[in-house]
Amino acid sequence: METIELRGLFVNNFILYDEQTTALIDTGFLNGINHIEKALNKINRSIKDVDYILLTHGHFDHVAHLEKLKKISNATIVCTAAEQIHIDGKFPYKGISRVTQFLEALGRFVFNYSPILIDYQINHDEILDLFGGLKAIHLPGHSIGHIGYLHLDSKILFVGDFIDTRRRKVRFPPCIFNSFPELFPESIKKVDEMDLKGIISNHGPPLSSEEQLFRFKKFTKKYYKK
Ligand SMILES: [Zn+2]
Repeated sequence: METIELRGLFVNNFILYDEQTTALIDTGFLNGINHIEKALNKINRSIKDVDYILLTHGHFDHVAHLEKLKKISNATIVCTAAEQIHIDGKFPYKGISRVTQFLEALGRFVFNYSPILIDYQINHDEILDLFGGLKAIHLPGHSIGHIGYLHLDSKILFVGDFIDTRRRKVRFPPCIFNSFPELFPESIKKVDEMDLKGIISNHGPPLSSEEQLFRFKKFTKKYYKK
């Protein structure tokens, strides 16, 4: 499996591909779908060739182009059932997280967004028969149905917004975006106990997956001491 990182202003997303299959992890945001098309053209493919759109969660900056991409590619949209409410823009944010609700509503208006149904509702530990095996890892905290995707061959875990490993200081996403922070310890433990070679998060400057894992491990040591 090859990975192309599509770098965006606020959020990055990814193209995964091999000879048979083309998949996206999340849809990108402000760069629009041309950004995806250009990257695919470089490997002699186009959005029409996308077979799967693998969502880590339903926040707007991860699903902004979902409906447009689906229309062009008819790709299978994969995510946990619990994230549909985010994709629909109907999640009842509470307290300070209502800022997120406002920002997402603004985004939906600006992007002329239409919600769309998840085609395949995946569960924790389920393995997709793609790229030699891609396993869903439930990582709640940022949102309730948030998942990562573990590529079994390379032992690289795409962690979405579970944690931001790319800043000088590893941290959880800003609190206004985390709807279930009480579940972070469970997710931290889960990832810490996995046999991994690297992790890749969606936000921040470019860093190797090994460096991101190294930073995560450093972070967990401190986290457990608290
Ligand atoms: Zn998010």
